[in-house]
Amino acid sequence: MMFKTHLIFGILAGLFFARAFIIEYSYLFVAVVAFFAIFPDIDMYKSKIGSKVKPISFILNFLFGHRGFVHSLLFAFGIYGLFYFFVNSTYAAASFIGFSSHLLLDGLSPDGIKPLFPFRPRINGIIRSNGIVDYALFFTFLAGIVWMLI
Ligand SMILES: [Zn+2]
Repeated sequence: MMFKTHLIFGILAGLFFARAFIIEYSYLFVAVVAFFAIFPDIDMYKSKIGSKVKPISFILNFLFGHRGFVHSLLFAFGIYGLFYFFVNSTYAAASFIGFSSHLLLDGLSPDGIKPLFPFRPRINGIIRSNGIVDYALFFTFLAGIVWMLI
């Protein structure tokens, strides 16, 4: 999916969970969800986030490839654990929600993801990045955000 589709879906997911669980400082919660919704593409140095931290991105790409370990549930749980121990359970949940939203969307693309990397199965779909459905999702999520904020 496009960077902006991941970002908008992350914001929508953040707003939804912040509302559903009445989370204090909800905008920070939404920001953390949105950040982790774009974070996994750090394993590709040409991505928006990867290009900001090229050396780290290059190493991650070299070690695991794009959509490898950094696009897995194990990595998501690892970040959840770090937040849980060093911050709190609310922001651990925020990181996990954002990360999961990214994996969910990438799982709909033809290349797909391996949620249990390095093991099978590979989950994939038919929605191409930059394609018409990607744009349709982007505008649907954007409408969802507008609907939640009015
Ligand atoms: Zn991705």
